[in-house]
Amino acid sequence: MPPVLGCRGGTFEAGRLLDAFIHQRLANYVEGRNNPSNPMTSRLSPWLHFGHISSLEVVHRVLQDASWDPSMTGEKVTGSRNGWWGIDESHEAFLDQIITWRDLGFHFAHHRPDHATFTSLPEWAQATLSDHANDPRPSYTFQELEEGNTHDEIWNAAQQELRETGIIHNYLRMLWGKRILEWAPDPLTASDWMVRLNDRWALDGRDPNSYTGIFWVLGRHDRAWGERPVFGKVRFMSSMNTARKLDLTRYLAQFGTKRNDGLA
Ligand SMILES: Cc1cc2nc3c(=O)[nH]c(=O)nc-3n(C[C@H](O)[C@H](O)[C@H](O)COP(=O)(O)OP(=O)(O)OC[C@H]3O[C@@H](n4cnc5c(N)ncnc54)[C@H](O)[C@@H]3O)c2cc1C
Repeated sequence: MPPVLGCRGGTFEAGRLLDAFIHQRLANYVEGRNNPSNPMTSRLSPWLHFGHISSLEVVHRVLQDASWDPSMTGEKVTGSRNGWWGIDESHEAFLDQIITWRDLGFHFAHHRPDHATFTSLPEWAQATLSDHANDPRPSYTFQELEEGNTHDEIWNAAQQELRETGIIHNYLRMLWGKRILEWAPDPLTASDWMVRLNDRWALDGRDPNSYTGIFWVLGRHDRAWGERPVFGKVRFMSSMNTARKLDLTRYLAQFGTKRNDGLA
């Protein structure tokens, strides 16, 4: 993994980031989480990955910030991502990520030795991706992807953020993976390229959650959607919809390049 200039590891830095998150961004986590131009996320995953801070400490501090005590816990388990802790939406949404989603990756990796391979996908996803493996698709080489050299300005910017900072915004990370599925020669190669790019450039790569994320792109922990070319029944995402949903002005000014000509 190439060094990331200006990024400091260590427990002291992790604590400083956690303080800043709790005091400046946590209250706006729900509305701001998906805003790549000014993300309200913790950015803690690299420090969690290297063990410089524990998720237990993060959860403890977040519950403390919400003045939570066990009597506030909801009595009914509804399966909803909000409402169980009895605290505000932003604190609950953050706990859903750092407990439910993070632990899902660790448990899956523990119980499935094949968690980093195609065979760990649910049967419906393997079947639909195989059915569509030979669909015609626009394709790029691994090198073009690694260099962020595609026709898609948003994708290139996400790849540039990854290369420059070792971090990639969560929402754009989903789009980043979905487009690799679309552009690689076939789904198996797509999973291999995602793992290689993520492991090489992401500070939080080589983690159980690398595989949760990458194989989510291919249908794990998701359901079947309407069938379409290349993706089959796997959830589709497009840069055009992303551009409609999110204000990317500042993000593209920071990480975008001028050589591209469209979104698709
Ligand atoms: C294609 C793809 C690849 C991914 N690769 C990785 C990876 O290599 N390492 C990694 O830690 N995460 C990975 N993720 C999950 C997610 O993108 C990151 O955990 C999150 O963006 C980290 O930013 P943050 O610390 O600001 O998160 P916050 O929103 O502040 O969340 C706090 C913590 O909760 C956990 N978390 C948040 N979202 C998720 C999620 N969707 N799945 C699992 N845990 C989550 C992380 O530990 C994170 O640090 C990937 C997702 C996708 C779609």
